[in-house]
Amino acid sequence: MSKPDPILVVSMGELLVEIMREKVDEPLSIPGTFVGPFPSGAPAIFIDTVARLGVDCGFIGSVGEDDFGRLIVKRLKEDGVDTTYIRSLSDYTTGVAFVAYSSDGTRKFIYHISRAASGKISDGQIDFGYLSKVKYLHIMGSSLSMNESWRKACYKAVEIVKESGGKISFDPNLRPELLDVGKIREISEPILSSCEIVLPSGEEARMLTGIEDTDRASQRLLEYGPSIVALKRGKEGSWIYTKKDKLEVPSFPVEEVDPTGAGDCFDAGFIVGILQGRSLEKVARFANAVGALGVTKKGPMEGAPWPEEVEKILNGEWF
Ligand code: ATP
Ligand code: MG
Repeated sequence: MSKPDPILVVSMGELLVEIMREKVDEPLSIPGTFVGPFPSGAPAIFIDTVARLGVDCGFIGSVGEDDFGRLIVKRLKEDGVDTTYIRSLSDYTTGVAFVAYSSDGTRKFIYHISRAASGKISDGQIDFGYLSKVKYLHIMGSSLSMNESWRKACYKAVEIVKESGGKISFDPNLRPELLDVGKIREISEPILSSCEIVLPSGEEARMLTGIEDTDRASQRLLEYGPSIVALKRGKEGSWIYTKKDKLEVPSFPVEEVDPTGAGDCFDAGFIVGILQGRSLEKVARFANAVGALGVTKKGPMEGAPWPEEVEKILNGEWF
C-alpha cells in the first residue's frame, strides 16, 4: 500500500450552510424568497479552494447529523479535503447563515452558528500527530469570534504547529456584528504575534491597529509579528507589504456575481502560491486571480476555482 500524502495545509472553524435572498435590496426583516443551502463558512471556503488548487489539506470542525451537514462534508470530500477531523454531532444542528445583499454592495447576516454544531469543538479534534506535520495552519477571526472553546482550540493548534516548525496564516475576517472592536483586538493578538502572513481587508487593518490610514495601518501590522501583510482591496486587487517592500498588484476584470468568499479564495491562492515557491509578486497575482474567480458564481463556495480556470485568467484567456 502506498503511503498517503502528508497534509500540508489545515484550517479549522465554522462549517455552515448559507441561505441567501434571491433578490438584492430585500432585507431579512420582511417575508420573501431565499435560495440555498450553499456550503459555506470562511475557513471552509478557504480549505475547499486549497484542495481544488491541488494541495493536500484537511479541516477541523463540526456539523450536525442532518442533511445540511452531509451537504458540506460531501462537497469538501469530493474536492479532496481530508475530513477525518470533522465531527458529526447528533445533539446539534448544522450552522446556518442567512444573508441579504444591498445594491450598494453591503451585506447583512443573521448567524445561527455559535450555539449550533459549528460552535462545538472537542480536545480530541486538536490532534498533535495530525497538526505537527502541516506546513501552514490558516486561522480566521470569525472562528476566534465564535466562543471561548473555539478560541482555545485555535490557540492550541497554533502552538502545536509553531512548535513543530509549521507556519500560521491569519485572515482577521472580522465580524463587528458579533464582537466589539476591543474584544476583536484582544482575541486576535495571540494569532497576529505568531503568524507569518496576515491577510486583512482595509477595514480590518484599520480596526486592528486603530490607524485611520489604510496604508499606514497595513505597515503597522508588520510590527505585530508577521513577515507579510497581504491587503485585500476588492476589485482594486491587493497590496503586499514586507519590511523591505510594498507591491501594488492589480486585479483581473471579472463580472461580480456574488462577492462573498472572495477573501477566502484569495487567502487560498496566496498560501498555495507561497507553498509552490513563487516570487511574492507572482503569489499576489495568482491570489488575485483566484479571488477574482471567486466572485463569478452565486454562492459563497461556488466560485472556488480549479487550476485550469486560474491558468486561463492569468494568461488573459478568460474572456
Ligand atoms: P470577503 O470577506 O467577502 O471574503 P474580503 O473583503 O476579505 O472579502 P476582497 O477584497 O473583497 O476580500 O476580495 C479578495 C481579493 O479578491 C481582492 O484582493 C481581489 O484580488 C479579488 N477580488 C475581489 N472582488 C473582485 C472583483 N470584483 N473583481 C476582481 N477581483 C476581485
Ligand atoms: Mg475577508
